[in-house]
Amino acid sequence: MAEVQTLEQRFESITVQDENYDSNAPVVQHKTKGALNPAIPLSNLGTAALQNRLKLPLQKLPANATGGKIAHSSAVNTTITKITLPSQAAQRSSAESRPSDADPLALTQQPPLPKAKEFHLGMFEIGKPLGKGKFGRVYLARERSTGFVCALKILHKTELQQGKVEKQVRREIEIQSNLAHPNILRLYGHFHDSKRIFLILEFAGKGELYKHLRKAQKFPEWQAAQYIAQMASALKYLHKKHVMHRDIKPENILVGLHGEIKISDFGWSVHAPNNRRNTMCGTLDYLPPEMIKPNREENWYSEKVDLWSLGVLTYEFLVGEAPFEDTPVMTQRRIARGEMSVPSFVSAEARDLIKRLLVLDPEKRIPLEEVEKHPWILKHCVKGERAFQRASGDGKKVKGDGVQ
Ligand code: ATP
Ligand code: MG
Repeated sequence: MAEVQTLEQRFESITVQDENYDSNAPVVQHKTKGALNPAIPLSNLGTAALQNRLKLPLQKLPANATGGKIAHSSAVNTTITKITLPSQAAQRSSAESRPSDADPLALTQQPPLPKAKEFHLGMFEIGKPLGKGKFGRVYLARERSTGFVCALKILHKTELQQGKVEKQVRREIEIQSNLAHPNILRLYGHFHDSKRIFLILEFAGKGELYKHLRKAQKFPEWQAAQYIAQMASALKYLHKKHVMHRDIKPENILVGLHGEIKISDFGWSVHAPNNRRNTMCGTLDYLPPEMIKPNREENWYSEKVDLWSLGVLTYEFLVGEAPFEDTPVMTQRRIARGEMSVPSFVSAEARDLIKRLLVLDPEKRIPLEEVEKHPWILKHCVKGERAFQRASGDGKKVKGDGVQ
């Protein structure tokens, strides 16, 4: 049986690599350098309104705390193999607007974050680095007083300014902190010091879906169907809140400890009607035809862009590459014409769903309600059964927990 340690014990063996820390210093219990002054205004990035808004979800978290524990295999030095996390049931019951279609299953309990008016770095124990993005580094972290496990994303203000993405980050924070759905990565709050912004994120224990896909090359149909069902549920929730994600792709999807997917990266998301120009960046593969048309008008496209991307995602899950993958010029041309073919090893039901999503006319794409009831989804997702479902009582996983 795997040796079980508390998170505290666990953190004693891992090192901090934040540049603001001395990497040779013992990790957890030291006072952080450059302690944060909560009185510093969000000089470069925030507004008072935004700060107030960001506190809402946190203040509503329930106060009953249970101990959060991390178990790890003694054979693997610093690899976490099992974490009892997260209390999605608690999060959901406290959410500002509870998604009607949220998964009814309660996962194991995690203590809530404290009702902090102001968060600061000293409140967190910093664990192993989880990854590095264009602007941020992400670390496993634990809130000291409650044991709440989370991911702390650190963004440097100067880098955000240089990259001219301050607005984008502000929007990301504003939108994501108001979302609570089991398949959307939670943003619990944020704080900052003079140089950095810290985002308190839900910890997605199995990392990037993109990596799982590359490793598997393609997913079996049952697994792809369960992922797409979760995506449809998350997108339905977003669209009900008039949020379109606009950047759905495997790179922006994380995987939770129980194999459930978590949409992240709301940098390109907007509240409809859209107000953003210059959408032509990043990969073209997932762009819908209405977004690449040269004479498109602002406000011309709607949340139906996410349906197109869902079709591309379904295809990529099953085939291992995106349907319009080509040179940039050819990709654009093929998207504009909807030119793609589904290989014969893909089942007829899956092919049908892909073809109903990858429709040039946004209005004619199959709606999310129908995606959820599509024969391909029904075939692979027994009602109430999802990839992250655990058998009641003993915590044994049921069929469908595909990502190991
Ligand atoms: P970009 O900056 O281009 O959007 P990115 O989305 O990969 O890249 P980050 O969001 O900063 O950048 O994340 C960096 C990496 O850290 C991710 O790719 C992922 O592997 C890991 N990561 C980020 N957030 C979490 C999280 N909440 N739980 C677990 N791992 C995470
Ligand atoms: Mg990203």
